[in-house]
Amino acid sequence: MISVEEALSHVFDLVAPVGIETVPLAEAAGRVLAEPVQAKRSQPPFAASAMDGYALKGAEAEPHAMFKVIGTAAAGHGFGGRVGPGQAVRIFTGAPVPEGADRVIIQEDVTARGDMITLGHDLDAGPHIRPAGNDFASGATVEAPRRLSPADLSLLAAMNLPEIPVRRRPVVAIIATGDELVTPGENPGPDQIIASNNFGLKALVEAEGAEARLLPIARDTRASLETVFGLAEGADLILTSGGASVGDHDLVGAVAAGLGMEQSFYKVAMRPGKPLMAGRMGAAAMIGLPGNPVSSLVCGHVFVRPALRAMLGLGAAPAPRHSGILAAPIGANGPREHYMRARITPDGLSVFDRQDSALLSVLAEADALVVRPPHDGPRAAGERVAYLSL
Ligand code: AMP
Ligand code: MG
Repeated sequence: MISVEEALSHVFDLVAPVGIETVPLAEAAGRVLAEPVQAKRSQPPFAASAMDGYALKGAEAEPHAMFKVIGTAAAGHGFGGRVGPGQAVRIFTGAPVPEGADRVIIQEDVTARGDMITLGHDLDAGPHIRPAGNDFASGATVEAPRRLSPADLSLLAAMNLPEIPVRRRPVVAIIATGDELVTPGENPGPDQIIASNNFGLKALVEAEGAEARLLPIARDTRASLETVFGLAEGADLILTSGGASVGDHDLVGAVAAGLGMEQSFYKVAMRPGKPLMAGRMGAAAMIGLPGNPVSSLVCGHVFVRPALRAMLGLGAAPAPRHSGILAAPIGANGPREHYMRARITPDGLSVFDRQDSALLSVLAEADALVVRPPHDGPRAAGERVAYLSL
């Protein structure tokens, strides 16, 4: 058995960044920027008023001074002329500041009568003008790689970039295996259960920005497994769940090997998730996940998500770990790295008593996996531990 760290480094050896495609800006949210992009325009492109008020010469802005209003500048409609001595232009937020003016007096500090204004007694420091290029200058770079956030989308739009180079979505084929499985909504026989892993895995890979292909359930026969593996043709990553232990019906490793899978490891010293395998299958990477529902999703967080991030060009790094304190004591750990389902509470991490790898109801309540190193001793309430957030 190898450690989680070794297994993950083997997984990274199996994957490489996928190609680049160009998508419309409106579809770029959550995608990974693949190449640096440059602003095609400065923002603001002109000195702009930050307030509603009057644009005039700052040197003339004395309390009680009077000005003649010679025009209006609104957002999208600048004032074409020049502001001379003793003159002001009515201006609104976002409007270009007219030539000759270098300060905006907020309208609250002004009394207007006809086309004349008088400034008030207490004027603020101003100048309420956003200089041209104050936010970014034309040519400013957004570096890659970068997962595009809502704020990034606004930034790229403001930079006048209608199309964005992103990593294409890695295609992930998902294969559930087992004679006992039926799809939700089907009529299960008395000895059958509903296949759940594939749906959780689909959600997990889509959340990472991949395209999931949910394949038909493979039965525990060589013929059925071979057929379904055939349907995975063209995928970048093939995920199986179940059939990876050493029972008579656990054929995934053998069938995959028969189809040319070069195995890079089998069995990892972790809990849950020991019967994990990975290898190369033609052009695709293959990760054989355990069948137990919690194991398959925990391995999804620990191995599949980092693998997808590497495929998206975000680099080869383990799932980010956070540090938190325990809300209650926990017992000593055994020889395998343990990913304990826990909840983040105001008192710290509350580890669930029931850690069986078949308990989806517990996993669904968890928002953290507390990571226990092998042979970690008992831990008291208030002690600091590492965790992954779910
Ligand atoms: P296996 O590794 O095939 O022996 O499966 C271990 C356990 O996980 C068994 O109880 C299976 O019934 C269950 N299992 C396997 N695949 C799935 C699946 N796709 N959804 C839900 N449970 C599964
Ligand atoms: Mg099975």
